[in-house]
Amino acid sequence: MLRSIPALAALCGLLLSASACSQQEVAKATFMPMGGIPFTIQAYDVSSATFDKAVTAIQAETERLESIFSFHRDDSELATLNREGQAKVSQELLRVIQVALMVSNSTDGAFDPTVGPLVGLWQHCADLGRVPTEEELESHKALVGFRQLLVNTAESKITLQKKNMTLDLGGVAKGFIADRAAETLKGLGVKRGIIDAGGNLALFNAVGEEPFRIGVRHPEKPNERFAVLTIDSGAVVTSGCYERFYDVDGKRYCHILDPRTGLPVGELLSATIVASEGAYADALATAVMVLGKDKGMQVINSLPDAKALLIWREGSELKYSISASLESKLELSAP
Ligand code: AMP
Ligand code: MG
Repeated sequence: MLRSIPALAALCGLLLSASACSQQEVAKATFMPMGGIPFTIQAYDVSSATFDKAVTAIQAETERLESIFSFHRDDSELATLNREGQAKVSQELLRVIQVALMVSNSTDGAFDPTVGPLVGLWQHCADLGRVPTEEELESHKALVGFRQLLVNTAESKITLQKKNMTLDLGGVAKGFIADRAAETLKGLGVKRGIIDAGGNLALFNAVGEEPFRIGVRHPEKPNERFAVLTIDSGAVVTSGCYERFYDVDGKRYCHILDPRTGLPVGELLSATIVASEGAYADALATAVMVLGKDKGMQVINSLPDAKALLIWREGSELKYSISASLESKLELSAP
């Protein structure tokens, strides 16, 4: 069974009082799209008429994007591509696949959008109350490989070169959806706002107000904060194994899989990425969970627009590492 625990990363209004963040009034709404992921919209200094309009527009757009990216819905654009093996796709699907491949290339396949067969296998086995066998892992691993995913940008055409390959964009699409919601707010004239799409934050602040204080959840204590990051705008995305996992006989297996072994990852407790684009930050957060603390930070340091806060356990100690340029923005919470 795949289980979900909400509130992966908490934000200003959720963990801190809104007044600690801004002198402006904040309007807030939450809905539960994408199979029950909490999606929160916060807009500062906005009329209730504009806010209502924004919420309606964001809900409609999120539903439309879900009908493109969903792995589970038979009628989604992604499901059609997975069935046909080849399709001319929407600009949204094209962009998300392009970002996914960019991150696959820069992480040497730690992030791999073609991980679908392995995700399906783990889901299937967990439903049967067991873990996959060696043979099952080998046969499904053979179907995974981002280099077999071809993109023809000029014609918006995607080809899955191997039979039975499937794309799963669960590790990258939420960041894209969060950015799209922030664009909707901006389009309606909102100058300062926060979107939280299940731990994928999109922030914007065009009024010279104080930066946002973003609470990063303690990866082992759901109601506690590990730290606060002070961020002005862009994407802040956290991936963690505590959020969603396969439950087999009471044992938890992380929902993030290492495409090279087919096994759930386990070294990091959480990875928070700060970048300007949501889909990019989302994919990187998943990738770093696979790469682990050393290789993960090394890859982040080699990329121009990405910073990270990584948390892991060593014996009785909780440890963390942070990109040098993010250090001055970190405030650890009391243990
Ligand atoms: P996230 O919560 O953003 O870290 O994404 C996790 C989801 O991405 C999983 O539920 C799978 O659908 C998918 N996924 C799991 N492992 C990988 C991987 N190594 N590369 C890309 N997507 C993955
Ligand atoms: Mg992700």
